[in-house]
Parts: sequence; structure tokens; C-alpha cells
Amino acid sequence: MERVFNFSAGPSMLPLPVLERAASEMLCYGDTGMSVAEMSHRSPDFEPIIKQAQDDLRRLMNIPDDYAVLFLQGGASTQFASVPLNLLPEGGKADYIVSGQFSGKAFTEAQKYGDVVCAATSKADGFSYVPATTRESFRPDASYVHICYNNTIFGTKYNYIPDTGDIPLVADMSSCILSEPVDVTKFGVIYAGAQKNIAPAGMTLVIVRRDLLGHARPECPTMLDWKVMADNDSMYNTPPCYTIYMAGLVYQWILDLGGLEEMKKLNQKKAKLLYDYLDSQNYYIAPVRPDCRSMMNVTFVTGNADLDKKFAADATAAGLKNLKGHRSVGGMRASIYNAMPYAGVEKLVAFMKDFAEKNPK
Ligand SMILES: *Cc1c(COP(=O)(O)O)cnc(C)c1O
Repeated sequence: MERVFNFSAGPSMLPLPVLERAASEMLCYGDTGMSVAEMSHRSPDFEPIIKQAQDDLRRLMNIPDDYAVLFLQGGASTQFASVPLNLLPEGGKADYIVSGQFSGKAFTEAQKYGDVVCAATSKADGFSYVPATTRESFRPDASYVHICYNNTIFGTKYNYIPDTGDIPLVADMSSCILSEPVDVTKFGVIYAGAQKNIAPAGMTLVIVRRDLLGHARPECPTMLDWKVMADNDSMYNTPPCYTIYMAGLVYQWILDLGGLEEMKKLNQKKAKLLYDYLDSQNYYIAPVRPDCRSMMNVTFVTGNADLDKKFAADATAAGLKNLKGHRSVGGMRASIYNAMPYAGVEKLVAFMKDFAEKNPK
């Protein structure tokens, strides 16, 4: 069967050359006589794989030496607890910006561990934009400020990096990591689940400034303590070896394309095609405030729940899969991560035009 264009929010498409390479190496990696999926993580065969992955990621994202790079498990959702357990002292304070569902979950989780408040939110407006903040939005004695940089479900993205002064900024970048360059030095911690823009599910990337290591609370589980993981090169226990290998192939794919500047250009071109179409017609409604539009997750509705349902079904039949919006918000969502080819968005826009003609409101 032919491969479809998969608009899933995650797990999502992987670059075809990466899948082909992984397939060709599935039974026998190099001269090891075995699959990466079968290797001991402590073997001399696997060691260069994880090291190369880390080196390539550092090069891609321009990560300075005073930041540790960790390959962990448990998904981004586990980091919702790891962040306060590593950064929030007993009786400490943390400020959260709630700009969507995942930042809301992170906020709720952190409240278990201390004086945690919501410094700004766009909840009353259906999370259709990212709230603006200034340094004064945050408590000066907060241990950190937490944001979700790209809101996967609502299709919004920060168009600025919050100014938090000396307070470390922690960002969930699960759905926009590697989509464009970011200035890592503006953040204390960046974390991301792999399954949107990095690799298959199973690995969580954590990039943490080293001075923030070593402050975990006594009750912090060993497995969630970033310093333990940093001291053990992410191998305190068995790491998600195969996902790390796949992530490494993706890093090489982006480096071969020319790095994150080039990746950004390709992503901008795809997003522009879709948003320009949305702005040029009045059959579909794009609910997000234009200055906060995500380049990765594009949301739209017809305004009629039955038509939305038909859209997703007809699109599936046309080889455009997983365009149904998140179950909590309905409508449609096209996730156009790094691996989605331009041709996929072209086909989507052609389908949208056709659907609008055939299904008058
Ligand atoms: C998908 C996603 C999550 C949840 O990730 P898991 O790996 O399933 O825990 C958290 N935050 C954001 C921004 C996401 O897109």
C-alpha cells in the first residue's frame, strides 16, 4: 500500500530517508551482526550511537557546554512532576503561564509540590492566543517560570520569549523542538517528548543548565533526578536505546538539510501555504489569533460539527489521515511537523477547496 500523508499530532510522520535507513539497518547494524534493538546499552556498539546523537543535537541546537543533554523516559508528562521535584525547594514558589491543555496539566501537577500559581492565562478566550507577560507578571522569589512554547492542541505558539529576569525559564517544547532555531541560553530547562518532531515515542529530551542540577528534593525519585541522569550520561538504567538511535538518524537528516535555519524555511513555506489559503476564503474558520499561529499545528473548523466529522472521514479516504481535532476541542487540526513534505500540505489545501465546493453550508 502507498504511504499516506499523516497529519497526526503525535506520534507523527518520520522522514522517509530516516525510515529507509532504519529499515536497512534493522537486522544488522554496521558490522555488529545485530539490530540496535538488540544491543546492550553498555556495549561498545551502542556507545558511539548515543554519543553521536548527543553531539549532533548539540550542534543542531547550538547547545552550550554549561547545559546537560538528557535522554529520558516517561514522556513530557513525567517532566510535569520532574520540574518541581528538581527545581522547587520545600515551601518554594513557582509561576506558570497556562496557555493550553498541557501547560494546564503541568500547572496542576506542580501544585502538589509547593506554592504554585498561574501568572497568566488565555483560558477565558478558549486558548486562542498566548498571553503577553512582562517581568512584573512573575513573583521575584519564584524558583522558576514554566511555559508551553507551542500549544499542540490549540495551535498557538509564543511569538516572544518571556522576560523572567533572573528566574530560570522552563519550557515544554514537545511539539516545536527542532522546527526552528531557539536561543537555548534564554532557558533554564527545555524538555520535549520525542514523538512529534524527534523520533518514535519512548524518549524525552531534557536540556538543563548545569547550575540547576543538584537541587532535587529529598523525596524526588532517583529516576526523576536530572543530576543522577546527567552524572550517568542518561544511563543510570537502560535508556530507550532504539528511540535514541532513531532520534540520531533524524538529527543527521536535519543536519544534512542544512540545520535548523533551513528547517525553519521549509516549515514556514508549508505553514504559509495553509494559512494563506485559510485567510483567502470564508468556508473554514481559523480560530487562532494570527500573531500567535503555530507553524506546526494548524487548527480550523467549518462551524458545523457534522461537516467537521465528514471532513475528517473524507480526508482519510483521500489519503490525508488524522485531521480530526483533539477530542477536547473538536474541529480539525493539521499537524505539519518537520517530516511532513510540502506536497502533503499542497494535497491538503486542494482537498479543502474541493470539500468546500462539494459541501455547501
Ligand atoms: C504531546 C505533548 C505532551 C505530552 O507528551 P507525552 O510524551 O505523551 O507525555 C506534553 N506537552 C506538549 C506540548 C505536547 O505536545
